[in-house]
Amino acid sequence: MKIYHIDRESWVKGLAASAEVYQLVGPVREKDDFDFKVLDKGQMPDLTGTDTRLSPKALVFPKSEIMMTFSTDPNDPDCNIMKEAKKEYPKRAVIGIRPYDARALQILKMNYDNGDYQDPYFLNAYEAITFVGLAVNSPSSTDFSTSCGTGPFDEKGLDVLLVAAGEEGDFYAKILTDKGDAWAKAAGFSKEAGSDVSTRIEAMKKTAEEAISSKIAFDKIEKKTVLELFEADHWENTAFACINCGTCTYACPTCWCFDIQDENFGTKGVRIKNWDSCMTGLFTLHGSGHNPREHRYQRTRQRFMHKLKYFADKYGEGIMCVGCGRCVRQCPANIDIREICETMNK
Ligand code: SF4
Ligand code: SF4
Repeated sequence: MKIYHIDRESWVKGLAASAEVYQLVGPVREKDDFDFKVLDKGQMPDLTGTDTRLSPKALVFPKSEIMMTFSTDPNDPDCNIMKEAKKEYPKRAVIGIRPYDARALQILKMNYDNGDYQDPYFLNAYEAITFVGLAVNSPSSTDFSTSCGTGPFDEKGLDVLLVAAGEEGDFYAKILTDKGDAWAKAAGFSKEAGSDVSTRIEAMKKTAEEAISSKIAFDKIEKKTVLELFEADHWENTAFACINCGTCTYACPTCWCFDIQDENFGTKGVRIKNWDSCMTGLFTLHGSGHNPREHRYQRTRQRFMHKLKYFADKYGEGIMCVGCGRCVRQCPANIDIREICETMNK
């Protein structure tokens, strides 16, 4: 496996060179937060923050995405015929995605690319991306990624793992896939790191993992039946403070629910796929007026049962959470998945 040493000057030049071949995307500071944006020519990704406010899932699963277009003009020979919207999937390099977020996109992929369904919108966007991750040397206090089968230096889902290498802004770049190799070539990175680099990276990984004190355990949940958990008597208490605002869903990198709507503008129309949330009452409202999740506690229960039980039982690959801590930090009612997991265990 190749590991390059990239100094500050080579980094700036390399990103500029790779921008000739790739559309570069990276974290950009917005007031007190960071969000992933397409970088302007010459703009550098801001890698000083630990996490972006919203996860990078919008890169493969946009908040709103036009799938079809149509006309309702009776004079139009194509009146009322749905047409596939024209789409472009530029070759992209996402710089500075955190390892657990890249793992989260693999979890999304399990839903969008399986034996029953393949979502072409998701898959085309995913395939067009080279994931250049940045290891987390100083995990936040709400990071519990190591309990969720991932971690601050996890390589799953990445094409390159960057590791900050000292005070000067240097990086080690561990090339993990052919896609990663192609990006490094486009950037002109070729200076191999010293022979002790793997040992140094392992030591940094160990330090970062040991700095994570926040944990969850779901072993007891695994052993309980769905009905035991579903019918447990704590759900109304657990959901008491929840205002079903959906913040946790929209911030979460592994939440994948969407809704499809037709919208008309005069005689033109579009069919749009939008992010949705199981926390909202409308999400399960039937055309008949019946709502199987009419009460707030039922919707809160759905979110946590899906993440901690249904997903785990269906896929057998752990829980539908990578421990990024966004929902813990952003919930206006201080609802904490780690505490709910503990309640479910008990
Ligand atoms: S758990 Fe928190 S963030 Fe999520 S819907 Fe309820 S109040 Fe909003
Ligand atoms: S449930 Fe919360 S901690 Fe887990 S991946 Fe989603 S936002 Fe991150």
